[in-house]
Amino acid sequence: MNQELRELYQEVIIDHGRRPRNFKVLEGHTHSQTGYNPLCGDRLQLFLQIRPGPRPVIEEASFQGEGCAISMASASLLTECLKGKTPTEAKALFQQFHQLLTGDDASTREGLGKLQVLAGVRAFPTRIKCATLAWHALLGALDQGETKPDDPVSTE
Ligand code: ZN
Repeated sequence: MNQELRELYQEVIIDHGRRPRNFKVLEGHTHSQTGYNPLCGDRLQLFLQIRPGPRPVIEEASFQGEGCAISMASASLLTECLKGKTPTEAKALFQQFHQLLTGDDASTREGLGKLQVLAGVRAFPTRIKCATLAWHALLGALDQGETKPDDPVSTE
């Protein structure tokens, strides 16, 4: 990664870390999950509003919490990109994102959009848990929904 790009990436992380988007309790949320990263002390709660049906869709996402710039920026970017996705798509995105941070396959970057700014975290293995905290909360929140008997499971 060249210097210019690195600086741009850092700018986005600092911006989202300082002024996180969708930083609020979501009124009327259908799912929520807290996450805690003891390694760094990051703590957050993720909220989702999912429209039920044969093809459930995440209509809104938000979070609240406190932690390092990476955890807050990652949560902020995550909530921005969830809107309009199905839970299945969101889970697939997590796989891609995790691969971006831990794998060595550059092709997985396609479709990640802005989330790519967090690629630099791969150079700091101890910070990966900061970057994935909101995502683990996301998976927890989605799994909660699937255990509800009256909530149809997507078979996509
Ligand atoms: Zn952290």
